[in-house]
Amino acid sequence: MTSTLKAYRAAILHSIADPAVVGVEQSYEYFEDGVLLVEDDRIARVGHAADLLPMLKGVELTEYQDALITPGFIDTHIHYPQTGMIASYGEQLLDWLNTYTFPTEKQFADKAHAADVAGIFLKELLRNGTTTALVFGSVHKQSVDAFFEVACALNLRMIAGKVLMDRNAPDYLTDTAESGYAESKELIERWHGKGRLHYAVTPRFAPTSTPEQLSLAGKLLGEYPDLYMHTHLSENRQEIEWVKALFPERKGYLDVYDHYQLIGPRAVFAHGVHLCDEECQRLAETGSAVAFCPTSNLFLGSGLFDLNKLEQHRVRVGLGTDVGAGTSFSQLQSLNEAYKIMQLQGKKLDPFKSLYLATLGGAEALYLDDKIGNFVSGKDADFVVLDYKATPLIDYRMQQARSLAEKLFALCMLGDDRAIKQTFAAGQSVHVRD
Ligand SMILES: [Zn+2]
Repeated sequence: MTSTLKAYRAAILHSIADPAVVGVEQSYEYFEDGVLLVEDDRIARVGHAADLLPMLKGVELTEYQDALITPGFIDTHIHYPQTGMIASYGEQLLDWLNTYTFPTEKQFADKAHAADVAGIFLKELLRNGTTTALVFGSVHKQSVDAFFEVACALNLRMIAGKVLMDRNAPDYLTDTAESGYAESKELIERWHGKGRLHYAVTPRFAPTSTPEQLSLAGKLLGEYPDLYMHTHLSENRQEIEWVKALFPERKGYLDVYDHYQLIGPRAVFAHGVHLCDEECQRLAETGSAVAFCPTSNLFLGSGLFDLNKLEQHRVRVGLGTDVGAGTSFSQLQSLNEAYKIMQLQGKKLDPFKSLYLATLGGAEALYLDDKIGNFVSGKDADFVVLDYKATPLIDYRMQQARSLAEKLFALCMLGDDRAIKQTFAAGQSVHVRD
């Protein structure tokens, strides 16, 4: 089979390392007039137009004006069944689950409904430039089948799993330790490693699983290579007290997951707003990751995430939207709120760190940095074209900007789905704004 080369010309920016480790200047590569060369579904090369164009005679070239190409965004924590309940008023975590989440997730027993929502959800991610996400299904296995069927047809790199929940939830939304294990296994056999899909063993959070269920979840992780583990951790103070009451024999919240062998590489814990030093250290030494979900933490009044503390302990941190508690599918909007969360703690969030969190940092948190996250040759051709003229205000603001850092920061503050001109996954256009 002959391969197809395609070239895309615009300003091009990608992260090459964590600014917290190498310093801001060494953390990125930028080509003011760049070319991204794509061979079929992979990145072939990135470089200056002046260097690459003379070598590309006969290659299909797409040129963008007033645009910035970056890697596709990575969302390390989101719930697809909650798409229709985004922006639900007035509660903090535990009441919010009972009032809004559980009745909404009940509907996913119907596969046709699940398929409809999966379509809307994935379209929304792509409209916002997100090409990979770590996704909660509902407790129903058909919710995950529906999700993966749509993701597979679009050839997206997606990670998802069926929720495990066998207590402290309505009867209509619970499985049992045994059925949760068996159904997860069935889904793993069907989907894990198919195309660009991966499976995540997904206990909702410690309070909604019995020790037996957590123990079987740990067993599953031991039975298959490269599975993910996806859950919530230390989001809300009331929740933390509840976990202490339910598991009095454990030292703390993280220790519950630790005890059942649910931590390690590819284990991703959403939130981690209230972690002690010892927990941060344990997350780091086991190679576990935390998903920082700024819009959700603010919306549910959960607290202020201490990014610097996790950085100091070298914990892997990705960026999550946590829709439906999060209020936007846009990682630009997540970064807008992340900046404000840092400001409220007297700290800064550099725009190049923001870029890292939304791309390469997410890939590292998910152990997918050999496949996605930047434009190193051979990686998946998942990328986004951002529009410097997306709105009259962004256009005007960009005219005042004197540096790349200033432009990038303004895009994070002012940008949303309107700033995403086009999204590509595995070399194919999967969203065009207009
Ligand atoms: Zn969540």
